[in-house]
This record gives sequence, structure tokens and C-alpha cells, in this order.
Amino acid sequence: MITVIGSMNMDLVVKSEAPPLRGETILGESFDTHPGGKGANQAIAVAKLGGEVQIAGKVGSDTFGKEMIANLHDHGVDTQYVQKVPDTTSGVALITVAENDNSIIVVPGANYLFEPGEASALRTLIQSSQMLIVQLETPLPFVEMLVSIAFHEGTPVVVNPAPAQTLNISFIQQATYVTPNETECAILFEEPIEEAIARYPNKLIVTQGVKGALYHDGANPVRIEGFPVQAIDTTGAGDTFNGALGLGLAEGRSLTEAVRFANAAASLSVEHFGAQSGMPKRERVERRLR
Ligand code: ATP
Repeated sequence: MITVIGSMNMDLVVKSEAPPLRGETILGESFDTHPGGKGANQAIAVAKLGGEVQIAGKVGSDTFGKEMIANLHDHGVDTQYVQKVPDTTSGVALITVAENDNSIIVVPGANYLFEPGEASALRTLIQSSQMLIVQLETPLPFVEMLVSIAFHEGTPVVVNPAPAQTLNISFIQQATYVTPNETECAILFEEPIEEAIARYPNKLIVTQGVKGALYHDGANPVRIEGFPVQAIDTTGAGDTFNGALGLGLAEGRSLTEAVRFANAAASLSVEHFGAQSGMPKRERVERRLR
């Protein structure tokens, strides 16, 4: 069983021809809602690839919370550890798309209601998991506790450090794998990627879009090439990569093979619109790997 502990957001997407000026009211062209959040997306990436996965997270006492739980459930994710918090709103991302530009306001809502002490209640869950996957859309002190528990229980953990924020060295040391994209890597380590990966061999895996991913094996840098495709929408590429990487490793692949599996899955996700809807099933990934 793979355990994801992290965020669940409802994306509220408004499209308009031009953005409103300050104080202006305009008519938009369309409105859509899509369940998202890095935690939910990564859990769904695992489930669509055929992995057994559960998610622990928090939603509010609103209809978005119910819809997000139903969506996870429909994708085969075990949601018994998702808590509905009374008198709280679910996390939402208010996305306006105009003139090919996105503006996003995220209100974390229930996602931010995790206290560090709550991590110990999840100890048994972590202990009995083959792999833990976390991100930074829940409070950092809570995620630090989760990683510390995983480290002491001997459960491997993938830390997707997004959105990027300053991390303690001990946190990085206790993580089994850390998976920033290039921008996040620059913020986290303030040094060239080549130096950062050499400092954390077989741990720091930097995703580089179409170029694939880069890590260091202790002797040399290792580039695992991406799969060149016609990219339609890269939303969710990182989440697909992380879910697939966690699953690939949990299934016993070497780091090289797991990163290749993750590149293949993520390349398939960018060929389709949407984060969750673009995530591939296992057979398509196997076909791409042949
Ligand atoms: P996003 O924020 O768009 O979800 P990210 O910025 O977190 O993604 P990237 O490094 O851009 O992360 O992409 C993650 C992985 O997705 C890459 O390592 C690669 O495997 C795959 N990928 C991303 N973009 C492309 C592309 N244009 N073509 C093929 N594969 C891609």
C-alpha cells in the first residue's frame, strides 16, 4: 500500500477574454470545477497506474469536500483517512485564465489545519506502508514530523518540495527521495543543480520538463531522458511524475528504472488536457517504455 498525505483543493477555473481591471466587473466565457491539489493528484496518479493507494488529508464541511472525496473514491483511492473538518472551507484554487495567462489565488482552508502533533496519529499508517509520498501544501512542521516518523519506522518517503520553501538540512537528510523541478531546486539549494545533486546522491531527483530528470549516483550525474511528445497541457506533469516514481520504487524498480517509468507516465500526461484526466493508465506507460 502506498500512502499519500497531503492537500486536496477544488480548482475553480474562470475563462475570460481579458482580465478585469481593478474594481471592474466583466462577463466571463466559461466556468469549470476540477478536483486538484498535489496530494489528491499524486494519489490519483498512483491509482490510475494500478497501484494500491490511500490518502490522508482534510477537507471542509462544504460540497467541495464531498465532491473531492467522491472523486478520489471513484478513481480507486482509499479515502478512509480523509477528515471532514466542521465549520471550515475546503482548499480552493481560484484560477482566472485570460489572454493565455493564468492568475491563481489558493485558499488552503482545511489543508492548513494539520498540527505537527497530529502526525503521530498517522504512525501506524506510515509504518504499514511500502511508500509514503508528501508535498508542501500542508504546514511544513507537520510534514517534517511525517518524514521524521517515516525515517524512524524505515518507510521510504518521496518528498515533493512544492511549493518551494526553505527546508532544514535534517528534513532533507531524513527524506529518502526529494523531487523538485528546476525552479524549486534553485530556491531550495541556492546553488547550481549539478552541485546540489552531487551533495545528495541517489536522493535528489530534479525534474527538467521535456529533458526528463537528473540525479547523481555517487560517482556520476545520471540523466534519465524524457520522452519527446507534442505537449498539449503540462498541468499535472509533476504530480504524475511523483506518483509514478513512488509506485515504481515501491514495486522494487531500481532508481534509474523508476525515474524512467515516471518520465514515461508524465510524458503521457502532457499529451492531454487536465491534471487528473490526463494521467495515464499502466498499459499506456508500459507501451511507451517498450
Ligand atoms: P508541472 O508544474 O507542469 O506539473 P513541474 O514543473 O513540477 O510540472 P517538470 O519538470 O516540468 O515538473 O515536469 C515533470 C516531468 O514531466 C518531467 O521530468 C518529464 O518527465 C515530464 N514532462 C514535463 N514536460 C514535458 C514535455 N513537454 N514533454 C515530455 N515530458 C514532459
